[in-house]
Amino acid sequence: MPVREKDDFLVFGSPLVGEEEIAEVEQSLRSGWLGTGPKVARFEKDFAAYAGGEHAAACNSCTAALHLALVALNLKPGDEVITTPLTFCASVNAIIHAGATPVLADVDPVSGNIDPERVREKITDRTRAILPVHYAGRACDMDAVMAIAREHGLRVVEDCAHAIETTYKGRHVGTIGDFGCFSFYVTKNVITGEGGMVLAREQENIARIKVLGLHGMSADAWKRFGDEGYKHYMVVEAGFKYNMMDIQAAIGIHQLARVEENLVRRNEIWAAYDKAFANLPLTLPAPEEPDTRHGRHLYTILVDEDACGVKRDVMLERMTREGIGVGVHYLSIPEHPYYRERFGWNLEDTPEAVRMGRQTLSLPLSAKLADRDVDDVVRAVKHCLGAE
Ligand SMILES: *Cc1c(COP(=O)(O)O)cnc(C)c1O
Repeated sequence: MPVREKDDFLVFGSPLVGEEEIAEVEQSLRSGWLGTGPKVARFEKDFAAYAGGEHAAACNSCTAALHLALVALNLKPGDEVITTPLTFCASVNAIIHAGATPVLADVDPVSGNIDPERVREKITDRTRAILPVHYAGRACDMDAVMAIAREHGLRVVEDCAHAIETTYKGRHVGTIGDFGCFSFYVTKNVITGEGGMVLAREQENIARIKVLGLHGMSADAWKRFGDEGYKHYMVVEAGFKYNMMDIQAAIGIHQLARVEENLVRRNEIWAAYDKAFANLPLTLPAPEEPDTRHGRHLYTILVDEDACGVKRDVMLERMTREGIGVGVHYLSIPEHPYYRERFGWNLEDTPEAVRMGRQTLSLPLSAKLADRDVDDVVRAVKHCLGAE
């Protein structure tokens, strides 16, 4: 008998959506103002206030946010941006679409975050920027990353898709480099369905990103249909269509209001997993680094076949059969044929990311999980390992 029946499948990453979000979306629909408008402006303001007084630009995904931040760096063909091989493909694609060449620096085998020593080894006279990813919600070693950036005159774009609540030495990540990019995709810690946000240290960078994100039209072109009279817009560069809608911001405003409450719940679930799995032959997430706060986005276990007697991919199948949705974050970037063919990357160049990518498995961690769901996940893991 599976832990959960098919009609009771526990969906991985299913978000907690409250009545406030539903009412606010309904209000947007009834108002007739669906597109970019006052709710997006409010969400930007709320998000900037939450993360610590930065300038913010909402957009329709973190992928768009990363692309805009990298375009704003004015990269030229042949310029190199160093990033991690243990990330979602969007981090690398954004570098490519901004016209630069991605370069991979391997991760630390304990944290799963980019290893500053490996970054140093990859620096050439073409290096222009570093794109660290705060993997699973764990802060990267930003002092080391920023020191390298200062030494070599590099820009830093932080991929904070997992890390809305994450802090490093008292500061929210995403406010340490030149840009921080956040995701509100359905499985993330704060959701708008699809959505993203750029934080920038400099107001002029955010102004440019807002222009680039709306066709390259001059500032506040979304107001052209408002009640202040029609305003002509001027196209000042070839931009993109990356703006967030008020319908999305309507969800985000109320999600953000509960962000800390949801983190408290995910901390409980995290602690329950740590306790339940302590004596299993799995590698559990390491404790967070001193003077950081972990954003608790992904609870990742490493399934080493030699220790567990089961391959990770078999474990994925077994968990699914037990009625528990699981994820993989991530098969490392060089495993994908496109990158290998285009950039000639070998798996041996980033062995830690390759190993982790082949062993890692993410368990449900949504604040929506009831205690019974958490118990089911624990029982399923034990079943699949033959431990109970
Ligand atoms: C989810 C994710 C993205 C992309 O976010 P979207 O909002 O879906 O575009 C980028 N980087 C990482 C590390 C992610 O997990």
